[in-house]
Amino acid sequence: MSSCKRCLNRAEIYLPYAGLSLCSNCFKDFYWNRVKKTVEEFKMFKRGDRVAVAVSGGKDSGALLHALRSVYPNQDMVAVHLNLGIKKYSDHCQTRVEELTDSLNVKLKVVKLEDYGYTIDDFQKTRFKSKMCSICGLVKRHILDRVVQDLSATVQATGHNLDDVVGTMLTTFFSGDLLQLSRLKPVLAPKHPSQNVKVKPLIKTPEFENLIYCCFFDVPFRSLNCPHSRGTHSRRSKRLLEELSKGNAHFRQQTLSLFLARLIPIVESKLPQKPLLECQVCGMPSSNPVCAYCKRIGDLMVIKQPSRGLRRAEVSETSPRIQQ
Ligand code: SF4
Ligand code: ZN
Repeated sequence: MSSCKRCLNRAEIYLPYAGLSLCSNCFKDFYWNRVKKTVEEFKMFKRGDRVAVAVSGGKDSGALLHALRSVYPNQDMVAVHLNLGIKKYSDHCQTRVEELTDSLNVKLKVVKLEDYGYTIDDFQKTRFKSKMCSICGLVKRHILDRVVQDLSATVQATGHNLDDVVGTMLTTFFSGDLLQLSRLKPVLAPKHPSQNVKVKPLIKTPEFENLIYCCFFDVPFRSLNCPHSRGTHSRRSKRLLEELSKGNAHFRQQTLSLFLARLIPIVESKLPQKPLLECQVCGMPSSNPVCAYCKRIGDLMVIKQPSRGLRRAEVSETSPRIQQ
């Protein structure tokens, strides 16, 4: 390989969209600088904020926590991990997260779905068995919102990368689900007092660079794949993205800019705003009297405990509040 464009040491990575060959040290500066610029450009958080970083055990959220801790060493920061109760996989992920937070000296809050009376694996016995990732995403968003609130964090940061966001933008656009597009913005402002600001500091970072970052800087991340990930929506959207990017190294960046600057503002101005209610079961914001999370968990509990015939209103009692 050629020499690093910045320091003339031996280059270890080539970034085609930037025409840059970099050594590992200059790659780290490049990566950190982009995270810092993204946080500043979109005003993701400020000095006094408490930032809760959702860490799954994967490379993206691992790289995010490592980079945020390095770029903002004095920021009030806490890591949150949800143990989803997926056999063999979830405990493995939790171990990687514990190694990472120990090495960075970042406080970690682990929440186990088992303590709520169910696991993601339980949904295999339901009509959602062919949509495991969609139900898992719903559960993660709901529980994270509650945990982040209980931790008094003002900002919730997730490891969504450039490929995730652009892939989902394209599939969402082609499916016609325009409302969903606005959820892909780098910063989501709260619509209710129980919500916090949600930010995506890696929205401009290609997925491949998170893997390289973890490998170069010994960031622990999982080596097992989730058993429910086969044939998922995200895999399909990544294949579509690869096809469309062939021959254009800038395709991802160009699409992100187009959607953020042009398409999403038009969609947001045209779509009617549904009034936000409070879920009658859990009190979290919802566009229906009972939120999607409580509906799904209520149905699951009836299957899990048929003799008890758990009613929906009881679901909230099975959900412990999180203590720090
Ligand atoms: Fe959840 Fe799907 Fe990810 Fe598995 S692959 S952890 S089911 S979102
Ligand atoms: Zn609810």
